[in-house]
Amino acid sequence: MSENHSKVIIIGSGPAGLTAAIYAGRANLFPIVFEGLQPGGQLTITTDVENFPGFENGILGPELMEIFRKQAHRFNAKSIFQIVTKVDFLSRPFKVFCDDDLYTADSVIISTGATAKLLGIPSEEKFMGYGVSACATCDGFFFKNKEIAVIGGGDSAMEEANYLTRFASKVTMIHRRDNFRASKIMIDKAKNNPKINVVLNSTLDEILGEDKDGKKLVTGIRLKNILTNEISVLNVSGVFIAIGHKPNTEIFQNQIELDTNGYILTNGKSTATNISGVFACGDVSDPTYRQAISAAGSGCMAAIDAEKYLETLHK
Ligand code: NAP
Repeated sequence: MSENHSKVIIIGSGPAGLTAAIYAGRANLFPIVFEGLQPGGQLTITTDVENFPGFENGILGPELMEIFRKQAHRFNAKSIFQIVTKVDFLSRPFKVFCDDDLYTADSVIISTGATAKLLGIPSEEKFMGYGVSACATCDGFFFKNKEIAVIGGGDSAMEEANYLTRFASKVTMIHRRDNFRASKIMIDKAKNNPKINVVLNSTLDEILGEDKDGKKLVTGIRLKNILTNEISVLNVSGVFIAIGHKPNTEIFQNQIELDTNGYILTNGKSTATNISGVFACGDVSDPTYRQAISAAGSGCMAAIDAEKYLETLHK
């Protein structure tokens, strides 16, 4: 067996992956955690986390994830700050590649999370990072006293819009239907915010901008009313896309069973996938709840499932 062999490899380092690492570490499995593209996961790009139990007055997302990591390391979990580029679950031991580096394992826990969805129009790509963003907490600061738009009608859009009013002079929410998908409490919060304005039944047709002295700049958005086909222009300096997320499962295609939206399918109440010895937890297998606490809970389950599986190997 190569020296890069371990009992458990965990791919992904959000609340699910690092909780799996804490539990696997305490079970003396010496887990290896591939921290991936965004060490600490989605919470590292949020500010206040107010709904994680145990933190009465809230905690900053990056701070919370650093505590997770330190707790996992205390129990001999090892972080590798590399991106997994390929896996082979069709032979044993399982193979995990980071470019040319090969790691093998008796069991694998997948906790690669999910990433923000985009609209897919060329102007969005053109102005991404120059007025277009998918992360209010990362980029809101750049829009002090500016007018901005938030696209989407779910809880993320409400949360982003509310957060952005800390900086922006006005936030216009653009939603493609006349009914929001978001929960009532989040809708009420946005409706009661005097800086938030709502445009319904409208889609973003184009992001308008200019090249000023070689620097790209958003100047507005062209909207289409889907009931009347009427086109209008809204002058904004920033556009935040908040239309949901997609699971990070590209490298698992043809290796493991996914649902039609790309989420990893797990068996019943367990974290077991269709490959015995490979488990999935957190947002990568959860299109429904997607909360840090539910991800952490499923990370615990994955570590226990992996431990039980490993016991069957050595009987
Ligand atoms: P979501 O619930 O899937 O909502 C996505 C929104 O974007 C929907 O309103 C959808 O419109 C719209 N949309 C999707 N594709 C679009 C497109 N191409 N063009 C225009 N609009 C588009 O996603 P989410 O808001 O990210 O929430 C995901 C999950 O996380 C939910 O379960 C949510 O409750 C949870 N969450 C909770 C909190 C919290 O409690 N603090 C915060 C954030 C998220 P339609 O409605 O027409 O489909």
